[in-house]
Amino acid sequence: MQLVVASQNQGKLKEIRSVLADSGIEVIGLDAFDDLTVAEEDGETFHDNARKKAVAIAEQTGQLCLADDSGLEVAALGGKPGVYSARFAGEGASDQQNNELLLKKLAGVPDAQRQGAFCCVMALCTPEGECQYFEGRIEGRILAESLGSQGFGYDPLFYVESHGCTMAQLPLDEKNRISHRGQALQKLVVAVKSL
Ligand code: IMP
Repeated sequence: MQLVVASQNQGKLKEIRSVLADSGIEVIGLDAFDDLTVAEEDGETFHDNARKKAVAIAEQTGQLCLADDSGLEVAALGGKPGVYSARFAGEGASDQQNNELLLKKLAGVPDAQRQGAFCCVMALCTPEGECQYFEGRIEGRILAESLGSQGFGYDPLFYVESHGCTMAQLPLDEKNRISHRGQALQKLVVAVKSL
């Protein structure tokens, strides 16, 4: 079975391929198609954005399509950056710029108030616009300095208490086992196998 994944984020595609490797599902990225128009991520929730992205690509390719929207919610910032995680420091911001801004906003906030959570919503949509959703969430703490070089995005700042290290210090297999995206994908695999 083939699944079009509406993402150009190579870090995400790598994680999705890795989790689905033994499932018999072949992941096809957007680079396999010419001239696709990707939907704008202007929704106010992870669900809105995931559905919008998946439906747009499913309609254009005529194939079942998976899209995810994910981000970091920081309690001390009222849940921000949330749906704005990728562009926290502005449109086209790099991971490093986003991380620097996060550290700046949390400067002086004590450890006990630096809780954060990575959230992921995946939408699996048909060209007719019927969608199923799969969700995942992992709690952690935002460090005051970066640690580790694996993963992407906010991983080097996201400390996972149960593992005693940041997401960026975990091997990909272990990140996939526990992460917000890994959890959502594991639910997706169960649902797709029963189709
Ligand atoms: P999206 O492509 O709109 O879902 O943007 C998600 C953004 O949230 C990414 O660009 C990262 O900044 C952040 N993010 C989502 N998942 C992760 C993760 O697994 N690790 C680190 N950052 C993440």
